Amino acid sequence: MIIVSICHSEIDFYGWFVKIKALKILLEMEKDIMSKKYVYFFGGGQSEGSASLKNLLGGKGANLADMAELGLPVPPGFTVTTEACSEYCTLGKESLFDLIKPEIDDALAKLEETTNKTFGKGPKPLLVSVRSGAAVSMPGMMDTVLNLGLNDETVEAMIALTNNERFVMDSYRRFIQMFGNVVMGMEHHDFETQLDKVKSATGKVLDTDLDVDDLKEVIKLYKAVVKEVSGEDFPTDPMEQLWRGMAAVFGSWNNPRAIKYRQLNDIRSLWGTAVNVQTMVFGNSGDNSATGVAFTRDPSTGANEYFYGEYLINAQGEDVVAGIRTPQQITKAGSRAWATSQSVSEDVRGSEYPSLEEAMPVVFAELDAIRDKLEKHYKDMQDIEFTIEDGTLYMLQTRNGKRTAQAAVKIAYDLKTEGLISEKEAVLRVEPKQLDQLLHPVFVKESEVEAKTLTVGLPASPGAATGQVVFSADAAEAAKAEGRSVILCRVETSPEDIGGMDACCGILTARGGMTSHAAVVARGMGKCCVSGAGDISVDYEAGQFIVGDSVVKDGEWLSLNGSTGAVYLGKVDTVDPALDGAFGSIMELADKYRKIGVRTNADSPKDAEVAVKFGAEGIGLCRTEHMFFEGDRITSVRKLILVAEEVKELRKQMLYAEGKEKAALEAKVAIPLSQYNEALAELLPLQREDFTGIFKALGGLPCTVRLLDPPLHEFLPHEVKGQEDMAKDMGLTLAKVRHLVDSLHEFNPMLGHRGCRLGITYPEVTQMQVRAIVEAAASVEGSKPEIMVPLVGNVKELKSQKEIIVATIKEVEAETGKKIDVKIGTMIEVPRAAITADEIAEEAEFFSFGTNDLTQMGCGFSRDDAGKFLGDYVEKGIYEYDPFAVLDQSGIGKLVKYAVDAGRKTRPNIKLGICGEHGGDPASVEFCCNIGLDYVSCSPYRVPIARLAAAHAAIKAEK
Ligand code: PEP
Ligand code: MG
Repeated sequence: MIIVSICHSEIDFYGWFVKIKALKILLEMEKDIMSKKYVYFFGGGQSEGSASLKNLLGGKGANLADMAELGLPVPPGFTVTTEACSEYCTLGKESLFDLIKPEIDDALAKLEETTNKTFGKGPKPLLVSVRSGAAVSMPGMMDTVLNLGLNDETVEAMIALTNNERFVMDSYRRFIQMFGNVVMGMEHHDFETQLDKVKSATGKVLDTDLDVDDLKEVIKLYKAVVKEVSGEDFPTDPMEQLWRGMAAVFGSWNNPRAIKYRQLNDIRSLWGTAVNVQTMVFGNSGDNSATGVAFTRDPSTGANEYFYGEYLINAQGEDVVAGIRTPQQITKAGSRAWATSQSVSEDVRGSEYPSLEEAMPVVFAELDAIRDKLEKHYKDMQDIEFTIEDGTLYMLQTRNGKRTAQAAVKIAYDLKTEGLISEKEAVLRVEPKQLDQLLHPVFVKESEVEAKTLTVGLPASPGAATGQVVFSADAAEAAKAEGRSVILCRVETSPEDIGGMDACCGILTARGGMTSHAAVVARGMGKCCVSGAGDISVDYEAGQFIVGDSVVKDGEWLSLNGSTGAVYLGKVDTVDPALDGAFGSIMELADKYRKIGVRTNADSPKDAEVAVKFGAEGIGLCRTEHMFFEGDRITSVRKLILVAEEVKELRKQMLYAEGKEKAALEAKVAIPLSQYNEALAELLPLQREDFTGIFKALGGLPCTVRLLDPPLHEFLPHEVKGQEDMAKDMGLTLAKVRHLVDSLHEFNPMLGHRGCRLGITYPEVTQMQVRAIVEAAASVEGSKPEIMVPLVGNVKELKSQKEIIVATIKEVEAETGKKIDVKIGTMIEVPRAAITADEIAEEAEFFSFGTNDLTQMGCGFSRDDAGKFLGDYVEKGIYEYDPFAVLDQSGIGKLVKYAVDAGRKTRPNIKLGICGEHGGDPASVEFCCNIGLDYVSCSPYRVPIARLAAAHAAIKAEK
């Protein structure tokens, strides 16, 4: 079509030239599409795909091919590639299906031949599962259809074949429900209502209680409800079922929850999901059948004590995660631990919830051997799915298991110790961002002991959470927008709850095991979660849950311990976690391989201590203004501000006055000047004390102290109440205070009278601060102060401030008789400073890139206002990330790189660091390493993240 329309429009020679070029491109594209292979077969001892084709076959497809190649018992099938999904999204369903039909027909024929069954007909009908699988796992976010190929005809053949009518009918009703929901867009409750009708008519409680006649009735009702809601008969043609099933899976790539999941997990640049069409094996074909999911190591703690997982006898995959039946443990040890945590007696455990090890010892031994083989093959903890059909084990999936940060660290360390991976691989196995989870607080023991325990559920995802309870994902999102911290309580969660799960601080569910949706998603998010708290009865209508004799209503405070499963009423105090063992070892390895220093942004001895504990190698930014708010020193600051302007004006006039006029001005300035000096004199010892504390906490590590930066109005009260208090405290009228506030008002304070501009107007403030720093350094042996001038844009600003700094240092040295080594440098946070870095380096011994302001001024985004629209920018892909969170490497990064090169040209040994928020962001840290900065500086809790990110950058750079 496009080609035809190109050829028919009337155009000149140049136009023809362009047309021919376009035509060639289109023909190339078409040739490219036609030559692609879209379907890869696996099974019967051969695989067309392999683990290395993960991007093309998705994680599931690649590993199925790999497992089949390894000789593991994988039901045969084929994978339709992620490229096909991409084409589904761009060309549309019809075009794609025309394109892949010959390959699908071939693969089906091969599958029939391998299994000796026929798809959708004959005495041995071939049934298949149709499952999604992207290159990065997105658990539960996309669609799956099981038992595909069933219809009234194949059902009869299956009954004759299996001699198990109940199993076949159960599979058929599951298929109608799943296909109806996933493919035909019907709601779960459309079907649940029919199922409940039959259950209540027959007085049965569990699905497994339903007999053949009940199931036949369910099927009849299901078909009727399909017709009623969708307006069409349930499709009986297996080929139609297959095409529609594949279309649904491809389509689910762009369903809202999958998009949200990719956004939340920063999953980008994938082609789409693959579709895996695989021969069905049945875990629900009787009591010698089962299905389960397992982790080769504990995904919560990383422990390698036993094979960690759950299974259900006579069930299909979705039963294990749906939380309807209580899953049983794989190993006897795991089963006993579970029984203890749930207060289930050994007798009851053994008879009602036996482990797979006890119930099917032979299959267990085979599975355990596969566990070992898979770990050695993939050299990582695996998350596996298996089905046992009439005593025969089948592997349905293996992938690197999602894990908590704690588990990631332990598993990486253990795999290295076991010799499976190298030190560098161990470092790369822990995602820097994931450490955030480990660094979060846990409950204070005493406070936890005193708290009222409501119940104990399963410890699904570790950590501690305290918040007000809400009962819907929407309520959680709304509460987050109001700045409230909430706990999301659900009977069980579903992928639709993803936004609320992200918004809350902890998740509590009444149903679901350790592999339930809530547990898996919470672990991935690093969020505290207690699942399967079966004692609680949740009433969404009433907005409450009841547990024992307690009624907990919407908005009440609740605390969760995700490491023990305890649920407490009220708030419980938290404390910083203790970090040692495997964490310490991985961090040591990170330090061994990283090539860039890591400092911290800290303004108090306490923060400095925390940061040093986390491995900070000094302070890269001490913002002195934060100290001005402490205690009653704000009064001295305000006293200074009150007269500063007047002193400045009178002094200016005095410059040009002579004789009597000068004398009059001197008399006039005397009082405000004495007040000005008095305020500075009050502040000096306080600042000195601050720096003394910080230098002591640093124990000889370097400390970059930034001189006063924010505009003065930030130290004044803007609310009437505050202004009244200030007036009272300082013996002023309210009008005077208001006048002062008004006089300091600026239209654009971020570009106003701040940074070194303050020191230029009020040199005594610089003098006071420098004196405090140097006197403190003189009193603490080994201190390494570095004085940093903020917001310099012109070398003359720095020169002017430097003169004051140098003179003051000399004064203190003369007074104390001590030689203090003080480095003097500047922030590079104004674009002009970056561009003239060669000139600035003449005066500066170090640069620290203030990328917060550099981003603000470089991109022209107000730090205060950009939040309102930057979300739209990121959503529309104008900026890939919020540039205040992740350095805009192609824009602001270029300014930084330019300044680095220019600075080094002038002063080869100039020290270069970054202290904007980007100093703790892994991608930005990598950039800083690559352009050769000496250190990054970030908030104390991000220090380990930066250390690990720096090691990742160094190791990746070697490759
Ligand atoms: C910066 O601008 O990057 C910086 C660290 O300074 P502040 O955030 O205090 O302006
Ligand atoms: Mg700044």
